[in-house]
Amino acid sequence: MQEKRNERIAASVREFLLTSFICFALFASVTAQTTAIRAGKLIDPDSGAVLTGQTILIRDNKVEAVGNNLTIPSNAKIIDLTKMTVLPGLIDCHTHLADGTRDSEPIGVFRKTAAELALESVPNARVTLESGFTTVRDVGTYRALGDIALRDAINRGDIIGPRMYVAGAYVTITGGAGADTGLAPDITLPWDMHYGEANSPWEVRQVIRKLAHDGVDHIKVLSSGAVLTHGSNPKSQEFTLEELQAAVDEASHFGLRVESHAHSPEGIKNAIRAGVASVEHATMIDDEGIALAKQHGTYLDMDIYDEECIQEEGKNGSMPKDFLEHDAALGQIQRDNFRKAVAAGAKMSFGTDAGVCPYGTSGKQFAFMVKYGMTPMQAIQAATSNAADLLGHSNEFGSIKPGKYADIIAVTGDPLTDIRTLETVQFVMKDGKIYKQ
Ligand SMILES: [Zn+2]
Repeated sequence: MQEKRNERIAASVREFLLTSFICFALFASVTAQTTAIRAGKLIDPDSGAVLTGQTILIRDNKVEAVGNNLTIPSNAKIIDLTKMTVLPGLIDCHTHLADGTRDSEPIGVFRKTAAELALESVPNARVTLESGFTTVRDVGTYRALGDIALRDAINRGDIIGPRMYVAGAYVTITGGAGADTGLAPDITLPWDMHYGEANSPWEVRQVIRKLAHDGVDHIKVLSSGAVLTHGSNPKSQEFTLEELQAAVDEASHFGLRVESHAHSPEGIKNAIRAGVASVEHATMIDDEGIALAKQHGTYLDMDIYDEECIQEEGKNGSMPKDFLEHDAALGQIQRDNFRKAVAAGAKMSFGTDAGVCPYGTSGKQFAFMVKYGMTPMQAIQAATSNAADLLGHSNEFGSIKPGKYADIIAVTGDPLTDIRTLETVQFVMKDGKIYKQ
């Protein structure tokens, strides 16, 4: 008797659960927004192929399916991009979006409050996204942690911008490439202008522990002097190998990768030997450096376009004179070394140092990457699949595949025959939401 009763109860529980599940599934299918994009041409950077007649099904913020014989649900919103070339959202691996209004004189930062700088950065984020860059790796800011605030405001939906992965501060030697320099030595800087200063392996670890606690996504160190810093020499070495090894090791305890700014050959090689994920600029990389980068699988993130803006501002007098002296001949050296690195088969990512050139113009670097030895497909891969790999997020973006974020852009024409089409992106979707059409 008792046994039969228990069976009846179990049966009704099963029935209740099944009905609830059906109701939930029906409810979910009614509420989930489905979008179908019909793509004329679809570039797949993973395979290096161009696909035709594809439909991309998007549910909420993720790609659900891609193919040429997909059934489009009757309630789906259809976006017709049959006359365009569709690509995954672009990724710039070297930006400085949180530095406010662009100013080639870094001393300008001392005339602004942190709040001014943050609010001035809001349009930087918007124009970056609208130009087709749905993700950026932002690699340092004059005032620490402003980039974290910008990232979080975008993620909350308070302001419009790309998905940001941020460094929080420059981890730099005192007076080094990432320091706020140019003031008299008896002027005391506020905390957020020397937050990342470190002068021994243990100080490097201490700074990285603070940044990890603050919620950064990666660590930016500087292992040589800089072009656009007062009192700096790009040909010098800054952090030692020991300090760089401490940085990579400490960052790894928090699951963080490290990128290193480096112009000088020794600064580049020390960073690679220490195990950084990418070398930024890599201006004076020599043959040994290229071989080491290949051996360690280190990405080279070479900003070969911004020389145009440095030179132009030199001509119109708005670039500080010492910066132009640092820069002399380095622009061409970097471009020649970019060509060498591409020919040698080193791993290359797309990074522009956005902020040196106006925000929203990063797409102009593609033509230079092609001019200096890449195929158009390689240049696109540098800014999509390679960039996602460098950031450690290949499962989430970098190509248009089921399960990844619906980060999708489109251009008129074919970027594989005219790479400059990527300078004027006409359709931008990030996270399943359209920002430009
Ligand atoms: Zn930079």
